[in-house]
Order: sequence, then structure tokens, then C-alpha cells
Amino acid sequence: MIIGIDKDEVLAQLLKYFLSFYNQREGTSFKPEQFHTYRWEDILGVPLEKIIEYTYLVLGVDQPIEPVPYAVEGIQKLREQGHELVVVTARAELFKEPTTRWLDQYFKYQFRGVRFANKGAPFDKNVDCIKNKIRICEEEGIEIMIEDNPKYLEACTQAGLRGILLNYPWNLNEETPINTIRVNSWREIPQYINGNGH
Ligand SMILES: [Mg+2]
Repeated sequence: MIIGIDKDEVLAQLLKYFLSFYNQREGTSFKPEQFHTYRWEDILGVPLEKIIEYTYLVLGVDQPIEPVPYAVEGIQKLREQGHELVVVTARAELFKEPTTRWLDQYFKYQFRGVRFANKGAPFDKNVDCIKNKIRICEEEGIEIMIEDNPKYLEACTQAGLRGILLNYPWNLNEETPINTIRVNSWREIPQYINGNGH
């Protein structure tokens, strides 16, 4: 089957790296566990402009961002099971080069494609990433989407896909979308996909 995979917080531990970078520069000590929402500006208590400024510093160049635990092994297993994998990210396409280099470092030759749902600037209000992700899923024939953001899964599952939601503090209080299962770790994902007759 064709599986869509979100990048940030599903493949890459972006928030963890972002905070180490941010804390060092700002003299703060924020931890990912504090993020009961993924609106970083709310937890950090700064205007969105500051997050955007840091986004360019962190995503615009190569940075030592770690993969999510067991993502490398999980992706390998899905490939061994014969699935086709497509990365579908809401990251702005202007960060394509460092993003692709990062993916090659940990996941070389594993993905059929890498699609960007944001052709604009980061956090551009005129870009509807949810709508764009669904369009990409339809173009790619994606049947199941792996995400950490329930908003995307809500839209995807309404469009007929199935969802896998990786549990994080910022989605635990959100409703689980229809046709979606929650998992605590990548270790559960290949097992789940295989156990469903695929
Ligand atoms: Mg994500």
C-alpha cells in the first residue's frame, strides 16, 4: 500500500532540536514535555515573528536534528513489507535542500517522493497546508497517513484515508480523528499496518 508520512515529529525530532538551539541563545530551559500545544509561541511566550526568525536559522541550513526513536527501523520494515512511502510535509518548500539532505542522511532511497504542502513562506496565512496535504495525498494515491498533528488527520480521514497518530503531549488532549489509531512509538506502526491485512 501507499503510505504518507509527515516529517516533523514523525521522522525528525524538530522540537527537541529547536529547543536546544533556542534555550542556548535565549538562556531559557524549555523542554518538549511542556508543549501541550504545538503553537510554540504560546509556550515560549513570544510573538510568532520570533518563531519565524528561528525557523529560518534552524531549517534553512543543515542542523544535527535527530530522527524520532525507531523511525529509521520502522521505515525500513515498512519497505521490507513492500509498501511505498511518500513524505508529505507542511514545511515550506524553500527549505527543500537541507530537508532533502537530512532525509538522505537517515532514510536514503526509502521514499518514493518528498512533497511540500507549503509553497509559501513559513507560517504564511495565505497557504492552506491542510488542503494542500489532502491534494498531495490524492495525487500520490496515499491510503494511510502517519502524523503527529490531528488536524491534518481529521481532514485526511474525512477524505477517505486511514490515519496513524503518534502520541505526543501536544495531541493527547485532542480528539482522535475517525479511522485513526494512536500509537506510542514507531515500534507499533509496521506491526499495525501488517496486522490489518496489508
Ligand atoms: Mg508533524
